[in-house]
Amino acid sequence: FHDSGEAVDEVELAIEGALRPTSLSEFVGQHKVRGQMKLLLEAARIQDRPADHILLSGPPGLGKTTLAMIVAHESGRPLRMSSGPAIQHAGDLAALLSSLTPGEVLFIDEIHRMARSAEEMLYLAMEDFRIDIMVGKGAGATSIPLELAPFTLVGATTRSGLLPNPLRDRFGFTAHLEYYEADELERVVERSAIVLGVGVPAVARAEIGRRSRGTPRIANRLLRRVRDYALVHGGGSSASVEDVKAALELYDVDRIGLDRLDRAVLDAIVRRFRGGPVGLSTLAVSVGEEADTIESVVEPYLVRIGFLGRTPRGRVAMPEAYAHLGVTHPEGAAL
Ligand code: ADP
Repeated sequence: FHDSGEAVDEVELAIEGALRPTSLSEFVGQHKVRGQMKLLLEAARIQDRPADHILLSGPPGLGKTTLAMIVAHESGRPLRMSSGPAIQHAGDLAALLSSLTPGEVLFIDEIHRMARSAEEMLYLAMEDFRIDIMVGKGAGATSIPLELAPFTLVGATTRSGLLPNPLRDRFGFTAHLEYYEADELERVVERSAIVLGVGVPAVARAEIGRRSRGTPRIANRLLRRVRDYALVHGGGSSASVEDVKAALELYDVDRIGLDRLDRAVLDAIVRRFRGGPVGLSTLAVSVGEEADTIESVVEPYLVRIGFLGRTPRGRVAMPEAYAHLGVTHPEGAAL
């Protein structure tokens, strides 16, 4: 159920779209961020101007795209979606920016992966709603200023540390999304179950919530697999807690919600590297996954639940990880 690596087909994407809340009041959890965004949007509405630029950071599946859509929806403005990898030249960005209509919300996902030359153009655009277009080459080159329609940029990144400071400083509001609590995920599941037309009793919802890695996208995916399981093996349009347990076992989601890659990473550190410290790239090669996925998807959750530590010399497994894998901790501590 990891974000990268798994091919998500179009049907799944369409379902994900249908499950997205469209207003801040429907958006579960992230209390603080919701309050801050509400104020930001309200102030912009009173002054009838586009809202300040917003930077959202945090692991995949926590609601960054959803919040960008909500910004557009709540302020009654159109939304343009793009992503860092799609902006490989300053020209790509110039084309995008110059086609925005007044007040439009521009969402750039994975903004840390945008080309350097585009980044510099973006500074000026964010600050003055203006860009300089270079025409010609060498000694005869000149720059032509181009006025832009005022817009709101919503940038999303899994790695805010990778953003250059001048870019980060130009966002009026920066929010870091945290992993969700189990009871919040239970509410996400409750809402999605209604949309999907599947009956899920509270105990079963709680079980899904506990095993969703703190991530709404995963909660929604697990719910769909549980629905499938109930359809094929169980009570048709209603799923029991037994259906949840059987479905999640089938998809290798363990009792605390770790998936195969999470366990492979822990297992490598504990068994192959004797608890660490081990460097990120060595670890990535050892589990056959990209370092970026390990760093931005796997590790943050393992750190958050206290299974993994990041030290200057590398990653180390914590006693809790040994206990979970059923391996005796080298210090012989009774776990
Ligand atoms: P990101 O852009 O951070 O990767 P998305 O915004 O695409 O994450 O969210 C992934 C899925 O999780 C969407 O289907 C969305 O409906 C759901 N989701 C995310 N956050 C929430 C939330 N706070 N409340 C309800 N559903 C959420």
